[in-house]
Amino acid sequence: MPSIRQGSIHLFRFAGVDLFLHWSWFVVALFEIERWKSRYTSIAWSALEYLALFSIVLMHEFGHALACRQVGGTADQIVLWPLGGVAYVNPPQRPGATLWSIAAGPLVNVALLPLLIAAVAMSRSMGWVHTMPDAYLLLRAVMWINVSLLAFNLLPIYPLDGGQILRSLLWFVLGRARSLMVATVLGLLGIVGFIGIALWARSFWFAALSAPMLTNFPGTPWLP
Ligand SMILES: [Zn+2]
Repeated sequence: MPSIRQGSIHLFRFAGVDLFLHWSWFVVALFEIERWKSRYTSIAWSALEYLALFSIVLMHEFGHALACRQVGGTADQIVLWPLGGVAYVNPPQRPGATLWSIAAGPLVNVALLPLLIAAVAMSRSMGWVHTMPDAYLLLRAVMWINVSLLAFNLLPIYPLDGGQILRSLLWFVLGRARSLMVATVLGLLGIVGFIGIALWARSFWFAALSAPMLTNFPGTPWLP
């Protein structure tokens, strides 16, 4: 289990799940809010965008945790840190139960998608582009954040959700051990590719995003 819970503060408990926030979240939040402020007329909007990002991450993690409990597994902690969230889940060792616990996270983003698209379309038709440009830009940013999170999480790179969904599907056919082995090998290839892109693009964020893929690998008792 990653040690990131050390140095985290307890925010609240909901439906039997404790939510923790790692201290480094605040440092990166200040940095990002400052970096995004040029998009808006006031820094408050950039802070709202950052909070919206983490609200979506939080709903995604609760999707994992609640689905895991629904199928009889244990899930009692979620930690938010600068690069996203982690739900500590332990579903029953059956492919169907595991698949549902994993798929429920991205399904939250799928459910949010039409709502956010409708909100952006409505704000546009009400003329917010001119009357409330900050609110319009925020809504549009939140819609794209949701799309990006969904796309990133569905990459078939174990232990990202997409890789774990692939593993659960293989579990039905190959059995527990072999499905994990295949998913792990595919995941390692994916991580090498990801780091390659990071070096090629000289992207700090790409490099940073490969970190959670490398931690506590394989057989993760948590979901990004
Ligand atoms: Zn997830």
